Amino acid sequence: MEDLSGKVALVTGASRGIGRAIALALGHAGCRVALNYRARKLDAEAAACLMDEADTMLVRADVSSRGQVERMVREVAATLGAVEILVNNAGIAKVQQIEEITLEDWDEQIAVNLTSCFLTTQAVLPEMRRRRWGRILNISSVAAQAGSIVGPHYAAAKAGMLGLTRGYAKLLAKEGITVNAIAPALVRTDMVTANALARPEMIPVGRFGEAGEVADVAVMLAGNGYITGQTINVNGGWYMS
Ligand code: NAP
Repeated sequence: MEDLSGKVALVTGASRGIGRAIALALGHAGCRVALNYRARKLDAEAAACLMDEADTMLVRADVSSRGQVERMVREVAATLGAVEILVNNAGIAKVQQIEEITLEDWDEQIAVNLTSCFLTTQAVLPEMRRRRWGRILNISSVAAQAGSIVGPHYAAAKAGMLGLTRGYAKLLAKEGITVNAIAPALVRTDMVTANALARPEMIPVGRFGEAGEVADVAVMLAGNGYITGQTINVNGGWYMS
């Protein structure tokens, strides 16, 4: 595995759940980590407390806002250096029946779960391309592959992330930049415990996943230059590719 010491990582939605675990794991691997959050500052601070203060920063931004994303990337560059590892993890899952989903709900799911990945990627790419090194990880979902217990709007946004992953991966492969997706299922976080439809018996291995099990894969992908354009399934066997 490549040495990640000193690499600058930006993890969106790092205040809780999977993003928090990925931020901690990248910090443990020697990265300098910017933890993005939207609203839960205290949770983000609690996560940052577990990391090396000199190599960690918090950055508030709504990743669905172009202006806030551009400011976030500028702030990270000014404090830690240009982003070399981008983890697009921030997401929302509004559990809805088909007939309840309005155009506003659709737009929100697409904006926060998919457009955000485009905005952050476009913002970090110029420096990655100049340096000819970069790692982009998109946290998609089994919903992209097997339908969703959240709703079709969420499944569509998460499937869009897989297309975005392959689209960028193909175009950037010769420039030292890899782009991959991770597709988790039913990882024990607020998102899953808040969803009454999520039950461990749905998973072939018979339990919810742990955020650390997704983080292990994220660190592996950050340290590997020969895996690109792939979707790594961390789903307890729910969807078998
Ligand atoms: P979570 O516990 O609900 O945490 C969501 C994180 O995203 C929080 O840090 C939240 O920030 C942040 N966030 C939400 N909207 C944001 C926005 N507009 N701008 C910036 N940050 C925002 O979720 P999770 O379960 O860890 O999920 C993380 C990712 O994995 C999501 O993309 C989710 O779709 C995906 N995923 C999760 C599972 C699962 O089983 N848990 C399965 C498949 C895919 P605040 O704390 O500040 O609100």
